[in-house]
Amino acid sequence: MEQKTLDETWQDILGDLSSKVPKPSIKTWFNQVKPLAKVNDTLKLTVPNKIVKFWLEQKFNSFILSSTKSIFNEVKSIEYIIEDNTQSPKTRSTKNFSLFKKISIFEVNPQTNINPKYRFDNFVVGGNNELAFAAAQGISQDIGAKYNPLFIHGSVGLGKTHLIQAIGNEVLKKHNNAKKIKYTTSEQFTNGLINALKNQSIDDFKSKFRDIDVLIIDDVQFFSGKVKSQEELFHTFNVLYDEGKQIIFSSDRPPVVIPDIEDRLKSRFSGGLVVDIIIPDFETRVAILRSKSQERGVLIDNKILDIIAQKITRNIRELEGALNLILFKIKDVNKLTEDKINELLKDYLQVYYRNVTPKKIVKTITEFYSLKEDDMVKKTRKKEVIRPRQIAMYLLRDLGKMSYTSIGEFFNNRDHTTIIYSCEKIEKEVIHNLDLTQEIEIIKSKILHS
Ligand code: ADP
Ligand code: MG
Repeated sequence: MEQKTLDETWQDILGDLSSKVPKPSIKTWFNQVKPLAKVNDTLKLTVPNKIVKFWLEQKFNSFILSSTKSIFNEVKSIEYIIEDNTQSPKTRSTKNFSLFKKISIFEVNPQTNINPKYRFDNFVVGGNNELAFAAAQGISQDIGAKYNPLFIHGSVGLGKTHLIQAIGNEVLKKHNNAKKIKYTTSEQFTNGLINALKNQSIDDFKSKFRDIDVLIIDDVQFFSGKVKSQEELFHTFNVLYDEGKQIIFSSDRPPVVIPDIEDRLKSRFSGGLVVDIIIPDFETRVAILRSKSQERGVLIDNKILDIIAQKITRNIRELEGALNLILFKIKDVNKLTEDKINELLKDYLQVYYRNVTPKKIVKTITEFYSLKEDDMVKKTRKKEVIRPRQIAMYLLRDLGKMSYTSIGEFFNNRDHTTIIYSCEKIEKEVIHNLDLTQEIEIIKSKILHS
């Protein structure tokens, strides 16, 4: 068959596919797929890179095969061949890069830093968080008047950010966007202050945080030891408080046990209502899994949810990660057995970090994105390197359990604030970008199992 006819036939196959696979998926994953040849009972397709190959094989192979069969009855298998790229490396990597540019449905408002994804209506309330939830709701109905400040503490992945962001969304809704809200992390606050001092724009900085109705500061434990930031925060707090404006803090521990925080600030932190969020019990974990799967438009048997909730107990971020992983790997979730879930979640269930070295992490990522190891470490700002490098920093932290400082040293003595920025950026994105989550899962499993 001539190449041209094959191209046309491929268009027919794509036409058939689009009745089985959602349009956005076709656009994302099939855009650069081309028919190469039909050899006996195999259709050979070229794909632009490893990511697409992996995706097509894992997720779409049976659809592609059945659509192909509807046209070439005799075809029994599909072969995916990574395009032998003769273009310059630059163009090639830019192509890879375009995969990351997909925009999430939930856009964070740059003015308020509030993400519409975090709301009260999708926050599951259980015994572990009901006080914090009630306080958060109370505040959003009556800002500045009830509990000021509100201080929510609890360990990582338990819903602090979700809840304090939800207050922001609720206030914006209730007042038709008329209230000025600002969400910031302590690190953003600190970096903003450093920049303001450097650029002599301290007045702008001050007014940015003082001309506000609700100020939300996440993870204040990172103010520990930062004398200048603490001082600035103290004054900001006083101005807002005196004007009856609402202030909300979160931290991974109660105010009294945050080290290296001035006493006067600690007493401000504790001066309103201090509530905690603890690990959710089994029923709450199941309810969260149900809510998250419904959000993703999947209906999962209670039996299956029960098993997952029994296995994953430490925190909700892990619970969500486990669910994502399962949804990604399995087509018909309801046919899962306990053994299969155990197998899928092996990484989550064991201490599996033993064989993970920083070198292995970086090597796996460079291979995955077809980069040179040198490029990752060197201080180049090449666009196609930036994202994989951020992922590397994130995974060195997440899997490698390295400190920000030692990650900085690993990357040619970069400043630890750069590392924090990168890690946070990926951390935030994985929460609502399912594709990125899945990509990182692929990389992780390569690191852990190779
Ligand atoms: P923290 O800030 O405490 O580290 P996050 O607020 O980032 O935790 O929560 C981690 C993930 O778990 C987020 O995706 C969040 O939406 C989800 N989550 C946490 N608690 C709940 C809950 N009660 N109901 C629904 N989702 C939750
Ligand atoms: Mg948080």
